[in-house]
Amino acid sequence: MLKIDMHTHIIPKNLPDWSKEFGYDGFIRLDHHKSSWARMMQGDQFFREINHNCWDPEVRIKEYDKFNTHVQVVCTIPVLFAYFAQPEHGLKVAKFLNDDLSNLVNKYPKKYIGLGTLPMQAPEMAVEELYRIKKNGLVGVQIGSNINNKNLNEPEFFPIWEACEKLGLSVLVHPWNMMGKEHMSRYWLPWLVGMPAETSRAMCSMIFGGIFEKFPLLRVNFCHASGSFLSTLGRIEQGFNCRPDLVAIDNNHNPKKYCGQFWVDCITHNPEMLNYVLKMQGSKRVTLGSDYPFPLGDLEIGEFINKMQLEENVVEDIFCNSTLEWLNLKKEDYL
Ligand SMILES: [Zn+2]
Repeated sequence: MLKIDMHTHIIPKNLPDWSKEFGYDGFIRLDHHKSSWARMMQGDQFFREINHNCWDPEVRIKEYDKFNTHVQVVCTIPVLFAYFAQPEHGLKVAKFLNDDLSNLVNKYPKKYIGLGTLPMQAPEMAVEELYRIKKNGLVGVQIGSNINNKNLNEPEFFPIWEACEKLGLSVLVHPWNMMGKEHMSRYWLPWLVGMPAETSRAMCSMIFGGIFEKFPLLRVNFCHASGSFLSTLGRIEQGFNCRPDLVAIDNNHNPKKYCGQFWVDCITHNPEMLNYVLKMQGSKRVTLGSDYPFPLGDLEIGEFINKMQLEENVVEDIFCNSTLEWLNLKKEDYL
């Protein structure tokens, strides 16, 4: 059975020193301090240590072979988004990352599928970049759950949704820049509490903002099985029903209506939760994701799904059909 992992992160082995080039801090650089390992640095601050499976396509293919997974959908690590940068610098960073991805997917067309990065702080430039990445072989983009704390329903982002629809490019919404992170520095809370909340923030903003009504052809996938959205949907729906004056001001459709219109990945680490997600979404809207190669991910690439005694067609939907439909790709191109 074809297995496609649609949520994985990759970065170029060498990054320019953008802070030096542009004259201000915030950009990530890599310090290759020992063989096969590098430190991600933000100015003088250590962010995370990464292994060569974060940049070496051959190492990754070997690791994926162990879990019978044939194709990786790759995108950058959200800390590289550079939405804080001046527009022309944000565009330069995005182009660098996107060109690296284009080279990769053109070299390994059966092994890698690429989702680009956009300078979301400059929507006009982002739209231009969408046209360029489409031409260069990428099939969609990964964007953050907020853009410098602006929510995804803001009208300034409409031209980006419109261009994605027109070009047939898909969208992956990834949590980042976690709300409240400055107040919860202990216990990894930004990742454990902030990330699921961020994804729900993005989903509620897009739903209540009427984005899926205005752009019905938009194909969006939300990370980590929707974060806390699906598990708190009862509350969200109750809010819609009891205070429409607050909630239903831009879109009068029940939020539940959109389940099964968007996609979510399967990264739940919990069979009961995945069963619930499947019930809410239908198997054609749940995709195999891992968050490889990071430790909070499902680094056995969906092995737990094989043990859940799901119908074979449900497993096949999760392992490949849902992702192929989300990205508008053909199965035969990957067999
Ligand atoms: Zn991720």
